[in-house]
Amino acid sequence: MAYHKIEKYDEDVTKKLAEAYQTIIESTGQDVEREGLIKTPERASKAFQFNTQGYNQDAIGVLNSARFQENISEMVIVKNIELYSMCEHHLHPFFGKAHVAYIPNGYITGLSKIARVVDIFARRLQVQERLTTQVLDAIKESLAPLGIAVVIEAKHLCMMMRGVQKQNSVTTTSAFDGEFLNNHVTRNEFLKLISADLS
Ligand SMILES: [Zn+2]
Repeated sequence: MAYHKIEKYDEDVTKKLAEAYQTIIESTGQDVEREGLIKTPERASKAFQFNTQGYNQDAIGVLNSARFQENISEMVIVKNIELYSMCEHHLHPFFGKAHVAYIPNGYITGLSKIARVVDIFARRLQVQERLTTQVLDAIKESLAPLGIAVVIEAKHLCMMMRGVQKQNSVTTTSAFDGEFLNNHVTRNEFLKLISADLS
């Protein structure tokens, strides 16, 4: 096989988290030695580390690694970026889509880098509002564009499987900067383009 995907976990963190998960499972009265649960603390530990890997990643570095000088000033939109994050209040997932646009001011970045930046901030303990502005701030710092827009639509399991138990509510957050903030024609064009179904 020419390609190997390697996942690396810190041994100390894995052990500490696994012990914590064991305590959590035991507190429900379950036998952690039974077949189905015996490896659960370690699996859950690794899943938690995967889902919070964004703390070890540098969004600005990712954007700068594919930053190119380019004399265009047309709106660039990356829409329907899947995201999976975790609500920091309940440690329940929230998931949905991010739509990101910017108007270059001499520099562009790789399109896939925009999606990676969404992942880097999503894979942390989050609130949707902060996630939205962190994506905007990273693009602003790396590219200093003429405008940036970030819209996130997400469903929160802490509202669906517990709490108010609303299955169909979608939370939308947005952050705008520069042209998208000051020029409603530009902002409306962005909102129209992300709403349009091109597929
Ligand atoms: Zn929550």
